[in-house]
Amino acid sequence: MNDSSKPVKQLPFTRPSIDEDTIALVAEVLRSGWLASGPKVAQLEAELSAYLGGRPVRTQTSATAGLEMALLACGIGKGDEVITPALSFVATANVIVRVGARPVFVDVGLDSRNLDLAQVEAAITPRTRAILPVHFAGLAVDMDRLYAIAGKHGLRVIEDAAHAIGSSWRGRRIGSFGDLVVFSFHPNKNMTTVEGGAISGGSPEELTAIELHRWHGQVKRGPDDFDTLLPGGKYNLSDVAAAVGLGQLRRLEEFNARRRKLTARYFELWGAEPPVRLPERGDAGHSWHVFTPLLPPPERLAISRREFIEAMRARGIGVGVHYPAIHLFSAYRALGYREGQFPNAEAVGRRTVTLPLFPAMELEDVDRVVSAANDILRGARVP
Ligand SMILES: *Cc1c(COP(=O)(O)O)cnc(C)c1O
Repeated sequence: MNDSSKPVKQLPFTRPSIDEDTIALVAEVLRSGWLASGPKVAQLEAELSAYLGGRPVRTQTSATAGLEMALLACGIGKGDEVITPALSFVATANVIVRVGARPVFVDVGLDSRNLDLAQVEAAITPRTRAILPVHFAGLAVDMDRLYAIAGKHGLRVIEDAAHAIGSSWRGRRIGSFGDLVVFSFHPNKNMTTVEGGAISGGSPEELTAIELHRWHGQVKRGPDDFDTLLPGGKYNLSDVAAAVGLGQLRRLEEFNARRRKLTARYFELWGAEPPVRLPERGDAGHSWHVFTPLLPPPERLAISRREFIEAMRARGIGVGVHYPAIHLFSAYRALGYREGQFPNAEAVGRRTVTLPLFPAMELEDVDRVVSAANDILRGARVP
């Protein structure tokens, strides 16, 4: 029982860690007189490129903008199909619709949450132009098989690596190889620029297109000689944001090591017979953006997910949901998608809970989350 006289320490499911050096660097930029894209953006792109094995990197205001520009740079639009998982943050599919193409969903693994590559092959038609996979929670998709399928069918791959900065596949960092790899630096992600994102990779032509889409389609050929080559957007990162990113990138390996350690504690405490279904554990290349077990199926649980979340909140523990299945949202039902098409995405969408995981957490916080969840689920077991 909680002692109601004592305030319960609130534990959110995520929280960014911004250190004093980063705050000082931001203050320096604010005093410098140059706030928009300038030397700090150039430095962040160079440091990200070095982190990703020397590949070209272009930053932008969000991963959503990055994914949309990557699709445009690949020439994807009306009449084209892009294969993508039915379980992700909705931005993954929204960008496909926004460029005029059709998202063709496939199901995900119940434990990996990554797209089912056998279903990807089966979904390819003459109109398919690209595959848009997600490295869910930072667990890398099987890159050998993914790129073998893409190569065989002449498809471009645009990786949604919003969860996967610092992840690797068989020892190779996500973003250090592959076609176009898009990261997010939203405050909930493994590193942040407040809002922001980056694209790694791309052909020289695609990089030019991304730069044009990012900034008004404009080129400057001399001090008074401008041209606009296409009706571009406005998605450039600011130097203020880039300064935050520089401070974060310096800590990224440490942050991800901490995430792995905290997750290992969840697995350790929940042992062989956990009251929840644990996600696929992966290997040391997993960057653990989120920890998302599944509650027991509704027929084996006397409370709803909402009641579980509220009971956790009453114990001072924040719980998120990553994510409802995309095809069941109104905008995607309007495209013809229906319940029952992607059973794993739907089961995850209904049963998943995101438990606290962020670098500033203590191991004792994990203990507290596990005992609260055990307590609530024990009282809610269907005999
Ligand atoms: C966060 C996220 C995005 C969008 O990132 P923003 O930088 O907020 O635009 C896209 N895809 C996935 C899987 C995400 O988690």
